[in-house]
Amino acid sequence: SISTTTQFFSHLNPNQRFAVEHFCGPLLVVAGAGSGKTSTLTYRIANLILQHRVNPENILAVTFTNKAAREMKERVQNLFSEQLALLDYGEKLNFLPEYEKTKIKSRVWHNYIKEMWIGTFHSLFARVLRFDIEKYQDEQGRKWNRNFSIFDESDSQTLVKEIVSKKLNLDDKKFDSRSVRYAISNAKNQGFSPGELELECNDYKGRVIAQVYSHYQDKLAENNALDFDDLILLPARLFQQNEQVLGYWHQKFHHVLVDEYQDTNRTQYQLIQQLVTNGERKKSNRNWNQRSVFVVGDADQSVYSFRMADFTILLEFQRDFGDGLADEYTSTMVKLEENYRSSENILQAANGLIENNTQRIDKILKATKGSGESICCHTADDEVAEAQFVINQIRTLENQNPELDWVSFAILYRTNAQSRPFEDILVRLGIPYTVVGSLKFYDRKEIKDVLAYLRFIVNPSDMVSLLRIINTPRRGIGKTTINNLVNAAHELKKPLWEVLVDEISVNNLAGRASKSIKNFVQMVINWRREIDILSVSKLVKQILESSGYIDSLKDHGTDEAENRLQNVRELFNAVLQFEEENEEVSLENFLASTALNSNLDDLKEGDSAISLMTLHASKGLEFPIVFVIGLEQGLFPNYRSMNDPMALEEERRLCYVGITRAQDRLYLSHAKERRLYGYREPALRSQFLNELPEDLLVTQFCKSQKDTKNTFLPKSSDISNYASMPCWKVGNKVLHRTFGMGEITHVFGGGDKISLAVKFDYLGQKIVNPLQLQQVN
Ligand code: ATP
Ligand code: MG
Repeated sequence: SISTTTQFFSHLNPNQRFAVEHFCGPLLVVAGAGSGKTSTLTYRIANLILQHRVNPENILAVTFTNKAAREMKERVQNLFSEQLALLDYGEKLNFLPEYEKTKIKSRVWHNYIKEMWIGTFHSLFARVLRFDIEKYQDEQGRKWNRNFSIFDESDSQTLVKEIVSKKLNLDDKKFDSRSVRYAISNAKNQGFSPGELELECNDYKGRVIAQVYSHYQDKLAENNALDFDDLILLPARLFQQNEQVLGYWHQKFHHVLVDEYQDTNRTQYQLIQQLVTNGERKKSNRNWNQRSVFVVGDADQSVYSFRMADFTILLEFQRDFGDGLADEYTSTMVKLEENYRSSENILQAANGLIENNTQRIDKILKATKGSGESICCHTADDEVAEAQFVINQIRTLENQNPELDWVSFAILYRTNAQSRPFEDILVRLGIPYTVVGSLKFYDRKEIKDVLAYLRFIVNPSDMVSLLRIINTPRRGIGKTTINNLVNAAHELKKPLWEVLVDEISVNNLAGRASKSIKNFVQMVINWRREIDILSVSKLVKQILESSGYIDSLKDHGTDEAENRLQNVRELFNAVLQFEEENEEVSLENFLASTALNSNLDDLKEGDSAISLMTLHASKGLEFPIVFVIGLEQGLFPNYRSMNDPMALEEERRLCYVGITRAQDRLYLSHAKERRLYGYREPALRSQFLNELPEDLLVTQFCKSQKDTKNTFLPKSSDISNYASMPCWKVGNKVLHRTFGMGEITHVFGGGDKISLAVKFDYLGQKIVNPLQLQQVN
């Protein structure tokens, strides 16, 4: 029966097979992108279970995202079922370790793998803490219980802010909560407790930060809460503190595997080391090297140094885990040198780019596929033209190549906010897409907040929007006050807004609340007055600023808040774009055009869709066709790296990650001009484009229509096929696929960017995609 099980990885190359079959002791696989590191790790897990009869419960595998963990489980599960299907019942039972036999009968095979410990550092060690956190106590005696909650970044930020300004009364210019929070997070990622941080610091500022850190831990403990960093730091401390606890987990996990090891930080490294070597007993325990630790990584793909990831950890693996004997030393590393993912052109471009980094170890990465298509480098006039170009290409390719499906395409960008122009077009064309690792643009909290402001200003009876914005950002209108007002509205049978405007009801409230409400009401009244005076963009700007929304994000100062701020500014760009593209510009029309989004059917699981994501989120993934967009100085590489050589190298690694996601075809694009924060700014081509081997690029190939042999070339008829769409007019009668008969009430945009508002006979007014309509005479 075992011989059948060995065949499932016979197609791997010798080095991969070596790594898969290797059973005990530490092993490092270093190799470039697409060389099968993750595949090897996955096969290795399956092999441990199938060949070496390792109980899945004894395996710990760390992936970089939860999605990667799900996929890995699925693949192990499939390999496992395939192999089991070859065995009869008796063999199946024999297959299991003695103590499992009774258990397995009552269990579905399926769960056997499902319950495996495959996940991210955070999810796996949160799971460890659910077992053991009650055995932990920090140096100040703080304790948590197993029902702890996990605070997100904004919760943490709020705590820090409270401590800085209220508890310690610090000068918040000198100690802005952003940098204090960042310093605390760094300390945790380096494994420092508040006390240790204080000892580390020999200046006043450092000591104050250590003090904030200490209060911050008090607050967390009071709330029985942990932040993300604690999910790693606490287990490491607990293992240090309590030999019995460490002993348990040490016994449990015989095999530890880590993917994307180059993005490990010091505390994560410490955890792995503790689990694998049982701390100080390492040398006295003769069996220690019976345990296996298997890590795979690529220093050229290290892109998380802002979270204290440190790729020297990867470089030091052999020293740290090898036992120093010469032969052991060499046998602990495997290199993979064949790339199975990308065509040769793509691979050469990637290699050419990364050679510009100084901080790296050169390695070999040979293509196994043909040279493939040239890489297309496209210059667009602005960000909207860029999005149009990309989506036109995708439609054409999808049309002309039966083997391609929407899932074959990925659009990668540097910052989250860049998805907006793409989403707008995809929505209008009814092309399904998903945003990986984030929400769709119009589902993001900050976008919903701002739209709620706009909706409420247009429509005073929109109570949902009112409740969303009344205390966002915080303006001292608390939950109780709001409840009282809502109840009053209910009793008086009046809209909530009328209650707010009504002096008598408001005067009944506590002094502070009543004042806050009056201010809020005055603000809204002022905006309403301006609707007819200001242009939509001026009004929106006015609202963003005078509501305090923008300032509250600026105050936060975390990376997350910066990201939200960029999104809000991108929404403002959307308003400007709307003004440029439409004749009849009003706030209502703008809102109607954004509502388009929610009108489209949501994707169902398993539906084919284009993937949009940041370059960071694309790590480990692959797609037949990849677009890396926004290759402009200051955007990618980002402006923070422009004067910092090390940061620039990290941006270059990120670009390397993006390029190496592509299997068959790669497009790189940049815009000559980009709207940033409302202004059109000229944009310079990214230096990364100049660093690519010139002969691999075809610049603007899409404009030349001569090379008809190239199946990827769009036909001119494809690009202009919008022209064949009917000419929509207000008052036209139309038939919609699902909503039935209706009449057009608004036409937004023109050309390929048209969208319509239709009043349906039964369903009322909706914004619809013209592709779903038929004209009726
Ligand atoms: P990254 O560095 O981007 O994470 P990776 O090294 O983890 O890449 P994988 O994602 O495991 O690479 O593999 C890349 C592709 O190569 C996958 O499609 C995988 O199925 C394929 N592959 C891996 N090994 C082989 C092989 N021996 N023969 C053919 N294809 C292979
Ligand atoms: Mg991988």
